[in-house]
Amino acid sequence: MKKVFYESWIAKHLLFPGYSTITLFAWVFTKWTEALARQSTINHECVHARQWTELTIASGLIIWAGMLIFGFSAWWLLLSSVVFYLWYVVEWCIRVIVGCFSSHDAYRMVSFEREARLAETDSNYLENSRYFAWIKFL
Ligand SMILES: [Zn+2]
Repeated sequence: MKKVFYESWIAKHLLFPGYSTITLFAWVFTKWTEALARQSTINHECVHARQWTELTIASGLIIWAGMLIFGFSAWWLLLSSVVFYLWYVVEWCIRVIVGCFSSHDAYRMVSFEREARLAETDSNYLENSRYFAWIKFL
């Protein structure tokens, strides 16, 4: 399945000037052509795509169990698609408020970012790393 969309309309219209690439859900959208894209950025964003997939599946399974055991509505499954983003924001807020980091330092300390930076220079990172590897950076 295609994961990276080059010369993306979404990236061109959604991103502020100075930003080139964004990961939304399991897909990476970039303004660049495939020939001009920096591999380090693509590697970084593909790690975020996997992190999103990991958390969506894990939270979806928990919600599904809640449906079976407690009778939760199936509508709660929609929540699983934003768990990655909720976790990201909550972790960033905790690092700013409790850790007293600046907003930029807190961003760099978020576990998802720390794992993604590992992959920037390793194009085989996703093949060789464990699932949920970001947990060790919490
Ligand atoms: Zn990142």
